[in-house]
Amino acid sequence: MTIQIDTDSLARLRDSVAGTVFVRGDAGLAAEVAGFNTAIVHDPDVVVAVTSENDVSAAVQFAADNDLRVRVQATGHGGGLPITDGVLISTRALDDISIDPETRLATIGAGVRWAPVVEAGAEFGLTPITGSSPHVGAIGYTLGGGLGPLSRSHGFTSDWVRGFRVVTADGEVLTANDRTHSDLFWALRGGKGGLGVVTSMTIELVPMRTLYAGSLIFEGVEIEPALRTWVEWAQSAPESVTSSFAFINVPDVEFAPPPLRGKFVLSIRFAFPGDPAEGARLAAPLREAAGVSLDLLGEIPTTAVGTIHNDPVEGGPDWIRGLMFDSIDQDLADDLLRLAGPGSGTPFVAVEVRQLGGATHRDAKDGTAVGGRDARFTMGVIALDPSTFAERAPERAAAIFDAVGGRRSEITNVNWSRGLIDAAEFTTTWPPAVFDRLAVARAKYDPSGVFAFGPAVE
Ligand SMILES: Cc1cc2nc3c(=O)[nH]c(=O)nc-3n(C[C@H](O)[C@H](O)[C@H](O)COP(=O)(O)OP(=O)(O)OC[C@H]3O[C@@H](n4cnc5c(N)ncnc54)[C@H](O)[C@@H]3O)c2cc1C
Repeated sequence: MTIQIDTDSLARLRDSVAGTVFVRGDAGLAAEVAGFNTAIVHDPDVVVAVTSENDVSAAVQFAADNDLRVRVQATGHGGGLPITDGVLISTRALDDISIDPETRLATIGAGVRWAPVVEAGAEFGLTPITGSSPHVGAIGYTLGGGLGPLSRSHGFTSDWVRGFRVVTADGEVLTANDRTHSDLFWALRGGKGGLGVVTSMTIELVPMRTLYAGSLIFEGVEIEPALRTWVEWAQSAPESVTSSFAFINVPDVEFAPPPLRGKFVLSIRFAFPGDPAEGARLAAPLREAAGVSLDLLGEIPTTAVGTIHNDPVEGGPDWIRGLMFDSIDQDLADDLLRLAGPGSGTPFVAVEVRQLGGATHRDAKDGTAVGGRDARFTMGVIALDPSTFAERAPERAAAIFDAVGGRRSEITNVNWSRGLIDAAEFTTTWPPAVFDRLAVARAKYDPSGVFAFGPAVE
């Protein structure tokens, strides 16, 4: 439904921002809001492609004056449902990155993806703690916590945040850190949304030039012994190593390594941020688990962090679901082989299990709102064929999640859960005490509910 927006107010918005304002029907709106998941098409009343903090402030004030809800998009990697109303603030153009090598602090704009931060940090022998894909938006990812290839050695990415600049519901720009608006700082490290528009984030980088990381690829009859070895190995793996496995129906597309295109494989991922010889020693049980068809594990520069998981760079239609769980055993391996393994008829391009623990279990010293800190594993299932989105993917995902059964964690982190669009999952996205404290912070910083948040709104 197209609503009538006050034309004077719209004209004032256009005068006050340096970026572009689109209203529904304008040429260019669809391109500005197109995100990673092309199965989700947004068509909000107004889009403001912001180019500065001042633009964000003006867009939020405009929305509040016109009783419109505000949403934010950087890359569209997290798009849950089509946005059909309100104001969408597109942060793509907020692409500043500055690094102080002395303090090891990077300040990055709201539109920045991880890849350029990794590249910029590498010039100083520093790296951010990223997710598996360097093409995900750094801020959207970190607002949910952020678990990546170094999560067991370095924790949630949000543990490395030292401050945010935030436009709150009245258009005011606040600095949130451990000294100023510390309640907002707490909430933004894991609380995800409903608090304001983050215009920039300051994050501590880690001294690191290389890591011993990559993947071991198993095919055919080698898959089962490799998986069963990983399950045993994971019970006592050192916390300096972060590892995961994925059943992958490797698509016949350019981003897939050529020898694997079109094959069904088990990929065991491994990342150790230390001496390569020690890394090789720690990886030996996995390498010896079964016949490796492709050994992609070795010393890599931090700039190659995306090659550990090889997530797709280009967007397309996708259907993704996830959960967290607390233990893994050979019975679960049986079920995963049956439901997601070779010959299972899985509709998924990938079914992935990542091991948590170590630093993910230790909160930052001043505490954060991260959900899922106690969990020991994540699971994600990803379908790319739209013909499976209505039935085959949901049915098979339900069967796989049922197999997890009582091992399922009480809380699933917001970057894995559907809590922001699914009422049943909403209350299990943060522990109850965190959930309540987040509600207090949201009521304080957004008392009239300008920022769309949570499934009730949808
Ligand atoms: C291929 C792929 C790989 C992924 N890998 C990982 C991973 O390894 N680890 C992990 O933890 N997660 C991972 N995710 C999940 C990802 O972290 C979330 O989807 C995240 O929300 C993406 O942020 P974005 O800004 O790129 O996406 P967007 O869709 O642009 O934003 C998602 C949400 O973030 C919030 N947001 C974004 N920017 C701002 C801002 N400036 N101010 C306020 N709110 C904002 C909004 O609520 C918005 O709806 C992955 C997702 C995909 C599709």
